[in-house]
Amino acid sequence: MYKGSCLCGTIKIEISGDIKAVTHCHCKICQKAHGAAFATFAASRDEHFAIVQGESSLKSYESSPGYVRTFCVHCGSNIQWIHDFGYNSGWSSFALSLLDTPFYRNKQKHIYTDFKAPWLSLCDNHPKHGGSGN
Ligand SMILES: [Zn+2]
Ligand SMILES: [Zn+2]
Repeated sequence: MYKGSCLCGTIKIEISGDIKAVTHCHCKICQKAHGAAFATFAASRDEHFAIVQGESSLKSYESSPGYVRTFCVHCGSNIQWIHDFGYNSGWSSFALSLLDTPFYRNKQKHIYTDFKAPWLSLCDNHPKHGGSGN
């Protein structure tokens, strides 16, 4: 069981199954929506993903036709990215950094790197420092 929350803690999520498809999206829409160089999403089965608190504080924004992003009205945290086409693949994506439960996955991918922020260097194999690295 994975647990997660938005920045202000109003919205809490639980994922009771596998988390797959860890994806760093560099498209311009994700850059704007997240205020960041890229957005990191992962996918879970719809029946495994639950908003367990704060559902009434969720708002949605159709960022392109048929694609809806949900966010917390209080703190602005991105929650989900979902297709709204009237069919359902059974999977939807959520903002991975909502997780409070530790999660590790070596298999990841970057998408839409053609639109990568020019000031970002992608160097996944470099050491990662939790603090200043000194
Ligand atoms: Zn919030
Ligand atoms: Zn994107």
